[in-house]
Amino acid sequence: MSGTLADRLARLIAATGPISVMHYMGEAAAHYYGARDPLGVAGDFITAPEISQMFGEMIGIWLADIWIRAGRPTPVHYVEAGPGRGTLARDALGAARRFGLEPTVHLVETSPALREVQRAMLPQARWHDDLGSLPEDGPLLVVANEFLDALPVRQLVMTEAGWRERMVAHQDGRFMPIAGDRPMDAAVPTERRDAGVGAIIETCPGAAAAVQAVAQRLAAQGGAALFIDYGYAAPANGSSLQAVRAHARVDPFTDPGEADLTALVDFAAMSEVARAAGARWLGTVEQSAFLRSLGIAMRADALSRAAPERAEAVATALARLTDGDQLGALFKVMGLGAPDWPDGAAF
Ligand code: SAH
Repeated sequence: MSGTLADRLARLIAATGPISVMHYMGEAAAHYYGARDPLGVAGDFITAPEISQMFGEMIGIWLADIWIRAGRPTPVHYVEAGPGRGTLARDALGAARRFGLEPTVHLVETSPALREVQRAMLPQARWHDDLGSLPEDGPLLVVANEFLDALPVRQLVMTEAGWRERMVAHQDGRFMPIAGDRPMDAAVPTERRDAGVGAIIETCPGAAAAVQAVAQRLAAQGGAALFIDYGYAAPANGSSLQAVRAHARVDPFTDPGEADLTALVDFAAMSEVARAAGARWLGTVEQSAFLRSLGIAMRADALSRAAPERAEAVATALARLTDGDQLGALFKVMGLGAPDWPDGAAF
């Protein structure tokens, strides 16, 4: 098959009927990340580690702290899922090294384009297609920033006739969400079945599978994990699917594969999955509180004093990472640990 992803999906839908929102989002994400480095001012969106080195440094300090209190076990492995440009890993590992933590580095990344960027930043790393091939001979220190939100969500929508899967049709040259034909009431938990027409229930099987796999590894081999993402405390009865291109919101159903598609992470569900798989849930806190209790304000002072000409840029970055109306409150940090590992700082 040739042509753009839009052409390919249009032909698929013409041949087999509408596809699920989950299928659509999965195809769009694979195409989007597979071929480009979308991060930065010149790209589509910017992430916390790209705003300032302070973000990765605080993560590195958190990891070093819990590892030291767990008795400095070795060998120990740093694992990052969806590492983007490798900036977070570089900054976190640099900070951790100062406390004696020098783990091997494992990056779980599907995008060939981003693997190339990561290779330049972290020549010592090893790459994995999924979590299954990670080492088994020591504790894992797992980090994932804006990874779970990129995994495809499944949506169920309430119609006059009951619950249906939300599908994507292609009509008059446009993709659009519609309700599927097949009754899906049995897939909806009893307490959520009664909802108004148009209500949407969103779940993310890929995110649940990833958190479960990490939690099982922590239970079996020790270690700790931080999942950082956009999220909500309690699920809303609506779609959280959004698309961003060139730093602006666009319609998720226009130009599939050309914009970054994300959905909010259901942190309450993720902590349940982790606990059921045998890990300790250390807590879920707002990013601002997490960074502040690890001392980001002190680090900002030190950076400003060392390079007064950069003081304004450092202050702006600090505000972007910790202000309630910027990234600080929108983003949450969920910590997990092995059952016999200590509590995490900042939770
Ligand atoms: N963590 C980085 C990048 C976030 S963008 C940062 O904070 O800057 C999402 C990342 O997840 C990209 O690296 C993307 O290629 C990767 N990704 C998306 N889907 C994936 C999947 N199914 N498996 C592994 N990596 C994936």
